[in-house]
Amino acid sequence: MSLLEVKDLKVGFPTADGLVQAVRGLSFSVDPGRTLAIVGESGSGKTVSTQAILGLLPEADISGSAVFEGVDLLRLDEERLRRIRGSEISVIFQDPLTSLHPLYKVGWQIAEMIRVHDPGVGRAQARRRAVELLGMVGISRPDRRVDDYPHQFSGGMRQRAMIAMALALNPKLVVADEPTTALDATVQAQILDLIAGLQREFDIALVLITHDLGVVAGVADEVMVMYAGLPVERADRRTIYYRPHHPYTKGLLESIPGSTGARQGRLRPIPGQPPSMIAVPSGCAFHPRCRYAMPVCVAERPPLGRVTGDGDHASACWLPHQAIGLGEEAEAVRL
Ligand code: SF4
Repeated sequence: MSLLEVKDLKVGFPTADGLVQAVRGLSFSVDPGRTLAIVGESGSGKTVSTQAILGLLPEADISGSAVFEGVDLLRLDEERLRRIRGSEISVIFQDPLTSLHPLYKVGWQIAEMIRVHDPGVGRAQARRRAVELLGMVGISRPDRRVDDYPHQFSGGMRQRAMIAMALALNPKLVVADEPTTALDATVQAQILDLIAGLQREFDIALVLITHDLGVVAGVADEVMVMYAGLPVERADRRTIYYRPHHPYTKGLLESIPGSTGARQGRLRPIPGQPPSMIAVPSGCAFHPRCRYAMPVCVAERPPLGRVTGDGDHASACWLPHQAIGLGEEAEAVRL
C-alpha cells in the first residue's frame, strides 16, 4: 500500500490579473522506503504541489486529495497537520537559513524541535540526540559544533544540519525541495550521497524536488517530469534516462551539463520560456516550445497514457507511444 497517494491535485492562486493555475490535476503515489523525484523547470508546479499537500499555502485554492497513511492531509485542521508535519513528514528546503534561526545555536534548535513534538524528552536527552544526529549527518566534532550558531557553519554544514533536523523525529516521509541547488558542485554530490544513504539506512520514503535531471541519476527509484502544472512523463529512473518518450523530458536530458552532448559542445537548452500560468497554452502546454508540434497538439490536451510495451512508463504526448531513443547522449548520464 502506498504511503502517500495524491489524486487530481489542483492548486490555484487568485490574483488581480486572473487565476494562476499552478497545479492543474496531479496524481502520484509514493511507497514506503522509495524515492520519487519530481522534476521540472521553475514554474512547473513541482514545489507548489508539495507545499499544498503539507498545508503551507493557506492563501491558495486547493482541491483533490492527498492521503497519507489513510488520512487526507487536505482535509485536516492546521493543528493536526502541524503534528504530522515535522514528525511523520519532514521537509528539507533549498536554503537552510529559511529554517535555521540565526540567533539560536544549531544544536538547541534541533533539541527544541524534539522537545516540542515530545515534551516527555528532557533537555539533556534532547541535546544528546542533537549531537548524535549532527554526527550522523557527517558534522565532525558534533559535541563541539552543537553549540555553534548557523553563521558559524558553512553552506554545506547548514544543509547537513537541516537534514539532521528533518530526521530528528524519525519521519516516514521526507520532502527535499531543491536540497542542493544553493551549493557548489562538490558539496552537492556529498549532500545527495548523504540523503540517499540515510534514506536507505532508515528506510524512509523520499520525494526529491529538483529542476535538474542530472541530480536524480544516483538517487531516485521513480521519476515524474512536470510541465505547466501537469505530469508529462513518469517512469522508473533507467527508463527516463534511456528510453524517454516526451520531448520535454528529452530536452531536459539534452541540457544536462556534463552530458556527452555538452562535452562535444552540443549542449542544447530547451528553446523558449515556461508559459504564464494565467494564460496556459491550449492543448499540450509544451507546444509553443516543441520541435515535434502538430495541429492536434494545439487543439487537444494529451492524456498521460502508457508507452507501448514499456511497463509502467507513461507519457502525455500525441506522438506515437514508442520510446524515443537518446542514443549516445544517454550514455553520458551515470546511473
Ligand atoms: Fe510536442 Fe505535441 Fe507531444 Fe506536446 S503533444 S510534446 S507539442 S509532440
